[in-house]
Parts: sequence; structure tokens; C-alpha cells
Amino acid sequence: MVNYDSFMVTLSTVFGASLLVERFLEFIKNISEPFIGGKHKRIIPPLKDVDRKIDELKKDIEAGKQDGEWDERYPLNTVLVEPATDPDDGTVSRAFVIQLMGFALGIVAAHLFGVRLFETLTGGSSPIAPWEDFLLTGLLIGGGSAPIHMLMRFVTRRKMGAPSGNGMDFSEEKENQEKPGTGEEPPVVDELDIPYSGGVDRDKLEWRHVRKENPTLIVYHHTAMKHNSTFEDVVRVIKSRKDSSGNHWITGYNCVIMADGAIKPFCRWDRYGNHARGYNMKSLGIAFNGNFETDPRIPNSNPDGRYGPSRPTEAQIKAGARVVALWTFLYDIAPDFDNTIIPHNKIAQKACPGSNFPYEEFSGWVEFYRNQWEKSPGMIKRIEAFKMKPYLYVSKSEK
Ligand SMILES: [Zn+2]
Repeated sequence: MVNYDSFMVTLSTVFGASLLVERFLEFIKNISEPFIGGKHKRIIPPLKDVDRKIDELKKDIEAGKQDGEWDERYPLNTVLVEPATDPDDGTVSRAFVIQLMGFALGIVAAHLFGVRLFETLTGGSSPIAPWEDFLLTGLLIGGGSAPIHMLMRFVTRRKMGAPSGNGMDFSEEKENQEKPGTGEEPPVVDELDIPYSGGVDRDKLEWRHVRKENPTLIVYHHTAMKHNSTFEDVVRVIKSRKDSSGNHWITGYNCVIMADGAIKPFCRWDRYGNHARGYNMKSLGIAFNGNFETDPRIPNSNPDGRYGPSRPTEAQIKAGARVVALWTFLYDIAPDFDNTIIPHNKIAQKACPGSNFPYEEFSGWVEFYRNQWEKSPGMIKRIEAFKMKPYLYVSKSEK
């Protein structure tokens, strides 16, 4: 048995230390930036400029400038004209050195604050030596605040869900896990194979595109690009767009589904993307990569397969349906295909996601996964665990 309060105190100290280390690394990163790689060079603006920027940003938000969308019409040569990744200019090795510094600092911080996670975790009967405990706690601190944040949320939720008193028995967790090969678990579709850790540019979005409330609407799209564009291509093309004041978009859809069924989170899910003007703030946007409009009268459409297959692959539809099903559980969105899960063309004068998109089939798969998951206790557990990930919900202080 572990004392909950003392465990949380230790965990909070570790969390605080990890934030300090993170801030320090961020500082090192900023001052080292001008020396490395011309392309990524960032000029640190004087303070009054920062104030001005913040004012501009506030005005932007009020004016709804961050709330946009684009044509989703791309001439054939838009994508695949340059390599999707930049050549390495020293950024990678710098990140490595900085991470090593982070671990070293973490170990120092563990000593400094006198926190030994394993000691607390085992209620004073830790099987490992104190110096090993400092080392491991330090590594955790140096790894950044996200893992500890997750651990804290996990522990607090357990605490809220547990009817028993002040003690926590972590061994119980192991027993509850499915044992492979026992055949206890029914063979339903039971995989929550959806990667998510904040998407692209999650740190840049820390103070921008903040939602006021959880999303209540899901809008689905096609990217209208060639089906063999990579995810990096899609992101690059979308972020090259500019808003009315000439600033590049920071983000786009909340998720993109590739032809092979790969799930690629893009805009953070607790932030709103740019995908459906007037609806961004309250919606999540998902896009199927490809061009599924076959009407030749519509510009940049795909009547003859010049953008690739004019219909999403089965793997793609199923993967998209799984993400949408997950969203309905995460944010309590009703599976209503007339009002809450809708194609882009329902709220805008556009073809997206195309006249050849298999609407019925897609909604069928969303229903299928929802029903399967609701029936599976293992799956419900996995969804509950997913809810504890960071970057999913707007915290009260952010609203
Ligand atoms: Zn669209």
C-alpha cells in the first residue's frame, strides 16, 4: 500500500522540477539557435516587439482571423515538387545534446529536491539503492513534463474512481490487465490503434487557437491533393497558406488519413484548426488524403484519376471511421450524421469531400466501431486510458 498524499507530493515536486528543466533547456535552445543552420535561424525580438505581437495576436483572435479555411482545390503540380524533408543542418545533433543536458539536469534536480520516486512508490521499501533511485527519478525529470503530467492525471483519476480510503495499491493494476492467450477477451474489433501525442507543432499552439469549449461537431474533408502526397506534403502545402494579414497558417485539419490507412494527427485536438470557416472553434476536422470529386466541371477535380484513385481506400475509410468514433467518445459527440458528423459541403459551398466519397459506407463504419467498442469492456478501458493523454482537453485556466 502506498500513501496517496505523500506520493502526490513527490510527484508534484518531480513535475515542478521537470518544468524548471524544460524552461532551462528552452532557454539554451533559444540562445543556441542563431549559431546553427541558416534556415532555422530565429531572431529573438526585443521585448516591446513581443508586446506588440501579443497585442496583434489578441486582435487577431477577436477578429476571428485565426478562423479560416482554404479552397481545397489544388492544381496538379502543387505537391511533390520538392523533397518533403529538409536536409539536416545540425538541428538533430543539437537536439540530442540538449536532451542529454536535460537528463543530467534532471539527476541534479532530483538530488537537489531530494525526491526519490521509487522510495515513495514502494512505501519506503524500495529494492534499489538511493543513488539508483536519484538516477531514475532524474531521468524522468529530464524527460520533460508531459510523461509526468500523464502519470499525475492517471493517478488522480484512479483516486477519484476508487471508493477505498487513502491507500493505493498499484499491484491491482497488473491483475486487471488482459492476459494474452487466456481467451477471456472476446475477439471483437478491440484495437485502439490511434497514435496521438499532440500532432504537428503542438508547442507552437500552446497559446494559440485555444478552444473555448470542447468540440461538439466533426467535419470531414478530402485534401483534394494527389493520393500519393505524403503527410509532410499536405502539412507543408496547408501551412504555406496566408491569412488576410499575410501571416502563414499555423495549422489545418486535426487529423489526416493517408491512403494506406495511416492516421496522422495534425492540429492539436484541444486547439481548433483551420478547415471550416465559421465552424472551426467548435469542430474537429478530419481529412482523407486524395481527391474524390469526379465532376469534370469543377476546377481541379479528379474525373480521370489524374490525382490518383477517385475513391478513398477501404483501409483509409476504416481508419478515419476509427478516429471519428474515438472523438465521439472523447468529447461526447452524438453519432448524428445529419447534424454532428458532417461533410464539409454541408456547411460550405464546396465539393469537399467530393461527389464520389462513399458517405454511407463511412458513416456505417463509424457506427460499427462505436457499437463494437461499447460492447467490449477492454475497449472501454482503453478509451478511458486514452482520455488521460495530454493535449486533449482545454484546462479551466486556458478558457
Ligand atoms: Zn473540406
